[in-house]
Amino acid sequence: MQRTTISRPLQEHVRSLLACRRCPKMKSAPISGGPVVSEVLLVGQAPGVHEPEAGRPFAWTAGKTLFQWFDEACGFGEEHFRSHIYMAAVCRCFPGKHPKGSGDRVPDDEEIANCAPWLSAEIALLRPKLVIPVGKLAIQQFFGKVGLSEIIGRRIPHVYEGVSFDIIALPHPSGASAWRWVEPGKTLLRQALALLSRDPSLKKIAAKFRE
Ligand code: SF4
Repeated sequence: MQRTTISRPLQEHVRSLLACRRCPKMKSAPISGGPVVSEVLLVGQAPGVHEPEAGRPFAWTAGKTLFQWFDEACGFGEEHFRSHIYMAAVCRCFPGKHPKGSGDRVPDDEEIANCAPWLSAEIALLRPKLVIPVGKLAIQQFFGKVGLSEIIGRRIPHVYEGVSFDIIALPHPSGASAWRWVEPGKTLLRQALALLSRDPSLKKIAAKFRE
């Protein structure tokens, strides 16, 4: 499908996604970044407690860090990001607080499996050139159970259900993840951001920002 003809099916996709209620334990309706036709797809973990109220992903402190990384690496800020990059997630609904009171509940295997077809459909529709999984859970959807240090800091060609693209992974930007504050995480995050700064699709998006 030509990129120019994706818009309508992508709008229909997002409408269906927003109506999804497959997971009874989820504490919010689905959150979407909207039907942004893009050759870059970002995959987060799941919305937090603030995103349902804001009605968009990465709307709180983790988002501030994420958009700051892109500003530094690619030269464009949050609003340009949101209007030029498709924002997906492993699970689209807020899972609720962790039962032991520390952070958010990690979606369970059944919820991840329930939500996976939305991501598959987005990849099939958008046929992205670059996918950016953010955090361990998102990285695992492409590489299985691997350590962050094996994946972050590299540009990795990948084939997902017949669609080929490159992956540049990032750690989760929430303060809860200690990985990026100590070595090798600090260096690998710097390498990942340097790779993003040189990516041709992100350079095109940055050029539009300067127009
Ligand atoms: S997490 Fe995904 S599959 Fe489950 S209800 Fe939300 S949108 Fe639907």
